[in-house]
Amino acid sequence: MDKLKVLFAATEAYPFAKSGGLGDVIGSLPKAFPKDQTDIRVILPKYASIPEEYKKDFKLIDIFYVKVGLSDQYVGIQQYEMDGVTYYFLDNEYYFNRPNLYGYYDDGERFVYFCRAVLESIPYIDFYPDVLHCHDWQASLIPFLLKEQYQWHYLNTKAVFTIHNMKYQGLYGFDDLKGVLNLDYFPAAMEFYRKLNLMKGALYTSDLVTTVSPTYAEELKDPYYGEGLDGVMRDISYKTVGILNGIDETVYNPQTDPALFVPYTRSYKKKTENKTALQDYLGLPVNPKVPMISMITRLVEQKGLDLVAAVIHEILQMNIQMVVLGTGDAQYENMLREVAYTYPDKMITIIDFNEDLSRKIYAASDMFLMPSKFEPCGLSQMIAMRYGTVPVVRETGGLKDTVHYFDKETKEGNGFSFATYNAHDMLFTLQRAVGLYYDEPELWKTLMTNASKSNFDWKISAETYLYYYKKVTGKLS
Ligand code: ADP
Repeated sequence: MDKLKVLFAATEAYPFAKSGGLGDVIGSLPKAFPKDQTDIRVILPKYASIPEEYKKDFKLIDIFYVKVGLSDQYVGIQQYEMDGVTYYFLDNEYYFNRPNLYGYYDDGERFVYFCRAVLESIPYIDFYPDVLHCHDWQASLIPFLLKEQYQWHYLNTKAVFTIHNMKYQGLYGFDDLKGVLNLDYFPAAMEFYRKLNLMKGALYTSDLVTTVSPTYAEELKDPYYGEGLDGVMRDISYKTVGILNGIDETVYNPQTDPALFVPYTRSYKKKTENKTALQDYLGLPVNPKVPMISMITRLVEQKGLDLVAAVIHEILQMNIQMVVLGTGDAQYENMLREVAYTYPDKMITIIDFNEDLSRKIYAASDMFLMPSKFEPCGLSQMIAMRYGTVPVVRETGGLKDTVHYFDKETKEGNGFSFATYNAHDMLFTLQRAVGLYYDEPELWKTLMTNASKSNFDWKISAETYLYYYKKVTGKLS
């Protein structure tokens, strides 16, 4: 039987480029597919920030030009193999030779270019995919263009689109993009209150839409979560499915992670050594007994920082230490800095994006706080659990699908959770967690073990994706 050919189009993949969970997913999901049945390849922008250790071995395989408005833009296709997966990088100095991945005035144009360049790369890489799997708004013009302009070129290619976060949709005025879109009409599939919504176009034109957890797939049909597209999600529910993300258990492994002070398996003593080493490293009082609560996150409204702000003084009345690592909105950065300044012996705030330090914190902490307002899947809680760190989360999206309240009687469950987006509900839940930590250390150990044994292996998700790829291409036997 021929292998199923899948091309992932995305704008991040760890270890080349990552700004959040999307980078983790694209960096680890392709490896999890069965090699005898599939040929999965990935196409990405070639950013300036890709580490030199990889970039130096990229091989230029072809060059062509793509129309962006009236100009012809250069596309250099470079290739790199890693862990049995082929990666293609689209090189264009003007669009991607910049320090950051996103956040430029012309992001719309940059990703219009990327989408068109992906579609036109196919003959040059000579890989005609059965499935073109596009991720998030930056790649969302691809399914639309595939249907509107390229269908005769790629008759056997189906489009699958994954929503990793509905909050970011690629919303632009038609006048802002019409000069670069190369469409001579206003595309109805993308119309959103007289603007262009790139993600909406992908939702209507893809053959299959997935989101990254079953609960989020349901929630998106509700106006509270749908970010204005809940009606579209209800419309397309017949072709929508939620597939839970996994984590790369070889990357996130407390036994082998080189970032840790002390590697450990399920040894609580060694985990505590990581805590005391981190306390020392960060200048907190060194005390193995005090529970450490951590947050590693983008500092944005989504992550529940308003709840934290509302009760942070009450949280810090408990005998705990708190470590926050993140970057994001100035209001949250300042609030967290100020609180840490007020409680220097209890809390530390590090405004940085730091992979190495994040691993040290996951390993050192006793609890990981993630009170998200919404959470498409969430990887941080899974990573925390992998390091034996107990999650305290709000029951939404992927957090609801992965964290189950610990029941003291049956000793089942892997964390703590609360349902309503309410600061005091979060506070009481944290107090309960801290209470269990101090009062019932044996039960706490059971809970840590349960958390670390939770199974988030990508293989399960990859099998589900494969089932749907086969279904959408008519290859299900
Ligand atoms: P999202 O994709 O919404 O940001 P996820 O929980 O799905 O949230 O993924 C976040 C990923 O980014 C995790 O791997 C987390 O460890 C990492 N991360 C977030 N903030 C930082 C930071 N300041 N430094 C290092 N890693 C971070």
